[in-house]
Amino acid sequence: MKNKLLSCVIIIVFAVCPIFAESVKTDNLAIQEYAGMTGRWVRVSSMKDLKIQLERFGSTIELVKKANNPYSLNRYIFIPFSSEKIASLEQAPGAKTESISSESGFIWPIQTVDRISSAFGMRNGQLHGAIDLPSTKGTPILAAMDGRVLYAQYDRSYGKVIVLEHRDNYYTKYSHNSEVFVKKGDCVRRGQIIGYVGSTGHSTGNHLHFEIRFKDIPLNPMDFLPENNNLPQPHGINRNWKR
Ligand SMILES: [Zn+2]
Repeated sequence: MKNKLLSCVIIIVFAVCPIFAESVKTDNLAIQEYAGMTGRWVRVSSMKDLKIQLERFGSTIELVKKANNPYSLNRYIFIPFSSEKIASLEQAPGAKTESISSESGFIWPIQTVDRISSAFGMRNGQLHGAIDLPSTKGTPILAAMDGRVLYAQYDRSYGKVIVLEHRDNYYTKYSHNSEVFVKKGDCVRRGQIIGYVGSTGHSTGNHLHFEIRFKDIPLNPMDFLPENNNLPQPHGINRNWKR
């Protein structure tokens, strides 16, 4: 019965989330996605500032209202691009679209990772059920897989935290963020910017604390993420293995 209920919930989750194309826009600093629209997250401080940004991206206040309901000043809002702007950006060098995936479908939640400051495993007698990815404040955090926002809120330990729910009872969690761009119930696609790296909550420096869970079981994200040649030792290979 419980299983039946669970699969029903999952069907509902993905029935309300539109199916997106496989390709992911990898130039995440120039082209971003939100609510099925293409644009950019911009911090806007005044109506005058908003007007400047609208002109810059060929956008309109109607599009801004559609993407940010409601929208407010002095915070990041999503400014959808006009179709002309999208066409010009897609032709610009570096604005390539490509699919980055592993067999399990997860991608790295930060585009360039060259160090893991804390691995998955026991730490001071407690399970650190995540990997810590040090990065500078304001680095984009990407949804590791298509899904829906289960919650996006402030937590005393984890700071500004986002939990995404994916198909087959998988969840990902992104903690200590400086900015959060999504809200509960939003559908997100893999590679979409959902926030910025920060050091909110109990944290000693700017980093992303990234978890993958199956139901409520913490799993080692390294078992699911694509191989990363930037890391000192390729994961998935135990070099000390002796027969
Ligand atoms: Zn951590």
